[in-house]
This record gives sequence, C-alpha cells and structure tokens, in this order.
Amino acid sequence: APMFSAVALLRPPPAETPSEASLRASPHYPEVVEKLRNVFRLKAFRKNQLAAIVSTLNGRDAIVLMPTGGGKSLCFQLPAVCRGGKTTGVTIVVSPLRALMADQVERLRSLEIDVMMLASMDSQDGNSMHELRSTANKPSLVYVTPEKLYCSDNMKAILKGLHARRQLARFVIDEAHLINSWGRDFRASGYAALSDIRKDYPGVPIVALTATATSEALQDIVTALSLNDYVLLSQSFNRPNLRYKVIPKKKDTELSIAQFIKEKYPGKTGIIYCIARIKTEEVAKKLKAHGLNARHFHAGLNDGDRKRIQQQWQNGECNIIVATVAFGMGVDKADVRFVIHFDVPESVDAYCQETGRAGRDGKVADCILYYSYYDVQRRILRINKDTEIDVVQKSRKRQAVHTVSAFCINEIDCRRMLLLNHFTEKFDPASCNGTCDNCASTDEVTEIDLTTYATQFVIMFQEAQDRCMKITGALSLHAFRGTSKQEMTRRTYDTLESFGKGSSLSTDLTKRLFDNLIAREVLSTELEEAPVPNRAPVSYVYLGPAADDFLAKMPSFVLKIRCPKNGPGAPRSKKGPQPPEEAPAFKPADDPVDPFPANDYEPFFDDIE
Ligand code: ADP
Ligand code: MG
Ligand code: ZN
Repeated sequence: APMFSAVALLRPPPAETPSEASLRASPHYPEVVEKLRNVFRLKAFRKNQLAAIVSTLNGRDAIVLMPTGGGKSLCFQLPAVCRGGKTTGVTIVVSPLRALMADQVERLRSLEIDVMMLASMDSQDGNSMHELRSTANKPSLVYVTPEKLYCSDNMKAILKGLHARRQLARFVIDEAHLINSWGRDFRASGYAALSDIRKDYPGVPIVALTATATSEALQDIVTALSLNDYVLLSQSFNRPNLRYKVIPKKKDTELSIAQFIKEKYPGKTGIIYCIARIKTEEVAKKLKAHGLNARHFHAGLNDGDRKRIQQQWQNGECNIIVATVAFGMGVDKADVRFVIHFDVPESVDAYCQETGRAGRDGKVADCILYYSYYDVQRRILRINKDTEIDVVQKSRKRQAVHTVSAFCINEIDCRRMLLLNHFTEKFDPASCNGTCDNCASTDEVTEIDLTTYATQFVIMFQEAQDRCMKITGALSLHAFRGTSKQEMTRRTYDTLESFGKGSSLSTDLTKRLFDNLIAREVLSTELEEAPVPNRAPVSYVYLGPAADDFLAKMPSFVLKIRCPKNGPGAPRSKKGPQPPEEAPAFKPADDPVDPFPANDYEPFFDDIE
C-alpha cells in the first residue's frame, strides 16, 4: 500500500451474537421483559442489551462494547434484579470513580432497587459491610471501587463468605478498558488487581463493559480477566453526527479557535483538550481575552475547584472548558457542540474517547484537531522520560502516538474510515458524505513517486549516524535540499554524500517525505533538553526501528497528496518509477519559511495531566 494508514488489527473470533429468536425463546425472557417495564419503566431494549442480559443470566461471561450513552448500565442492572438466573445473589459492580457510582446508585434507589455503595477506604463503610455480612435481605447490587475490592481484608472476607454460600450472582467490570495495562489511567485506576477475580471466585460469571476497545485492548481484557467462552456484543462505533477535521497548527491557534467558536457556535458548549496543565491556563486566558466564556481544568486543581468548574460547565454558567485529559471520565453533557484538540492526543483510542463526548444529543458537532509534529515529539519525550513504565509499555505508547500522527498527516483517506478501521470496523467512505475534511476536500489527489528521494534521504541519516553527526529535523531538510541559508550548516553538512540530492524537491514535499518516514518509523526523532536553560528542547533525527528493513528492501515510496485545483503549480499525475534528476511535478508556489514552525511553541515538558 503506497499510503501509510492507521493499522487495522483483527478482532478475535468468538463474535457469535445470539439471534433475536433465540433470545425471545430463552426461559429468562418473560422475567427480563417484566423487569424492564415494571422496575426500570422502559419500553424496549436497545441494541444488544437483551443479548447481554440473557447471556449473563445463562452464566456466560460477556464483553459489552457500546458507545458512551448506549445503555451499558442496564446490561448488568437488570439481571441484578432477576431471580431466575443460573447464578443468583448479589451483583458486584466494579467502577473506577465515586462520582460515576454515586449517579448510578441514586438512579437505582429512585427505582426502589436495593443497592449498596462501598467506595471509601476508611471505616465509613463499616455499617453497610456489617449489613452485607449479616442480613438475609441482601442488596441486588453492590458498587465497589477496585481498591475496596482488593485492599480491604474485611471486604474480601465478606465476598469469600458470599461466594461460599453461592450468593455472588456475577462480577461486573465497568469501564473495562482501564484494565489495559498501558492505558493512561491504569496506574490510578487500581484495575490491575482485578485479574485475580476469576481465580478467587471461580464459577462466578463476569461481565466487562466499555466504550473503547481496539482488538488489542479487547484481548487485554479477555486475558486479564481470564474470560472463557465469552459472548462478545459489539456494535458500530460510527458517530455520523460528528464532523472530523485536522488543521496544521500554526501560531496563535487560540485566535483561530476563538474565531471558529464565535462564528459557528456562539454561546454553545465545548471542550478544548491540551497536553499540559499550564497550557490549559494560558489558552483559557487567551480565549477569555477574545471574549469567550472559558475556564481551565486539570488534575492540579483542588477537588473543590474541579467540582465547581465541572458544575458550572454542566449547568451552562461556563461554555468552554479548556482541560487536560483529567476532564472527561464521568462527564455527561448532551449538547457539547465541539471538541477541539489543541495538541495531538496520546492515541487514536484517546482521540475517539475524547471526541466521543461531542454531540451526544445526536445533533451535529465538530471535532477539530490541531496537528504539529512538535507535539508528537513532546509526547514521545514524555514517554521516554516516564520512570514508572517499562520498555514494553514505552514502546506501545510510542507506537500509539505514531499511529495518531499517521492519522493526522493522512490527507487522503476518509477519517471516519480510518478511525473505524482502527477499531476493526469496516466503513465505506462513500457513506461519509463529506463529513470529514478529507472527504469534503475538492482538491485533486496526486500520486508522486519519491522512491529514489526516500532512499537517498534515509541514506543521509545513516551516514550522519555513522559519522556521529547529530542532525535536527530542520537542518536535515536544508542539508538534503542543499539550501541552507546558514553558513554553519553548509560547512558541517555539505560533506554528506546526500547533500543537495533533494535540491529539486520543494520544502513542502521534503517535509511530507520526512513526516511519512517518521510515521513508518524508518526515521525517529528524539527531543533533547536544550543546552541553554528555559529554551525549547532540540529535536534530533535518527534511524528508526524500521530503517534496516527499509534500506535492505528499498521499497517503492509513492506519496499521495492533495493540491488545490488549478492552483499555482497544479500537478500532473505521475506514476511509475522516476529518475532522480527529474523534479516531481508538484511544487508549491512558495516554500514555507520554516518547515518546523512549532518550535516556537513552548518550553514546558514536565508538566503532566
Ligand atoms: P453508558 O454506560 O453506555 O454510557 P448508560 O447506561 O449510562 O450509558 O445509559 C445512557 C442513557 O440511556 C441513560 O439515561 C439510560 O437511562 C438510557 N437508556 C438505557 N437503556 C435504555 C433503553 N432500553 N430505553 C431507553 N433509555 C435507555
Ligand atoms: Mg457507563
Ligand atoms: Zn470521510
């Protein structure tokens, strides 16, 4: 495939979904429908709810993949109040956040369902736990944090007791993606301990629910929870009302954002995600200066402030939240009209989860991502510097950043298709109907064969590396094109074999070539702290993990690009191999001054979510 696109992995096989007829024929069906109507006061099931409920009542393990707002809770709340299941008794629900639990508990109590919440590590829960141990009338559901489940000896003793008396109906793992050991929230979530459930409570069915799962993440859930013979219930993750767009990040992104909001969504609700705490404060301040009602939010604020800001946003006192990823879990506002990524997200998964908070009311909402390669490097630097994760986790996290980067620099393929493919779902780009920037573009697509240039470019880095020369991204472009204005550069790098070999390539094409080689991991970059304090780190380029293979095979390298119709330098399509002497047809009218402009952005790095 000439164009790098997001890697699609295959979903594991046991995807057999029970048929509608077999579900209706189930002996549990009458009771299930009765509870739906009389206890939950709902009319009909949504997709996969009945299948999930019947499966767990039959004693099977189940994984439920449903978009946020799809109705996952009912999948375990309803069987919890049924008496006819294969396993009966208390349904234990593991949930990561007190706030999420409290909401559900409140709702269930309003439906007169007997539910208990055990979420504190101190002795506050003592009475409830005593009750759980003694009364004959056990609650239908017990909500518990993972810490409570595995760090409280008292709790463990009670559960063992229930298990011995066959009074554990099932374990429910909500937000099960947190079990994925390299996920962002893993360290904090306490979900690691859940891998002992199967061993500690054999014979008790498990239900895992999540709104995000690549096949990789899914595999992690299956393995970590030792699920066997599970039913997988998934559905399309396409969000037709969301519009996707990636914009190259330039200076004064705040202004561009402010203009967008004022023009399209004045007074409407939105979220702007930034990578760093300090950035959220800066951006919120600038947006306020532009007359917008914005507040910042990050994990560095105290609990009270966080609660207050979230409340203000929830009830419309404040329209725009500028936040780190600390903002989101448990956020449920239907009329979010835009989710803007000020910086590159950490993975495609994170991107989907974050953009997924837009447009829950089904009305059109915009997802805009400001892309800069510099931000990619900042992410990589942060991963490299993280002392709390091992090399395997680092490599997976770096890969995730590269995948997101490849998604961003892809200006050809339907974004909806790329995102859905990432979650192993097929999508016909024709159905996008111009609701992503790539499908909406009327610019012509041109293929340019850069095979010879690509090879020579990579050889240049190999030579530099062999000679222990450190070369930055910007200088490498100059050296390859032989165009440095800086005398220094010329003297240092003009001894390279490939110096000036790319002189007939425009800066723009060379930069695209560079970006694609990075995305394919043929090249890699490393940010190093600046030699002078308080200056932006310097990025050096090295051969990447895929370089050896690339140099051995010298595969054909065809770049697909878009260029304006009839614009200056409108391209002629070229296919097949091209001699290096011949300049490619496409040349933008003007070379951008600096191909790595984002270096101006910010010198902050140690700042975290
Ligand atoms: P999720 O956990 O998947 O994000 P929830 O379980 O919180 O979603 O449900 C989202 C909303 O959908 C809730 O307000 C819930 O009451 C509603 N809902 C769930 N199932 C149904 C149904 N079968 N019919 C009508 N409303 C439903
Ligand atoms: Mg939920
Ligand atoms: Zn599209």
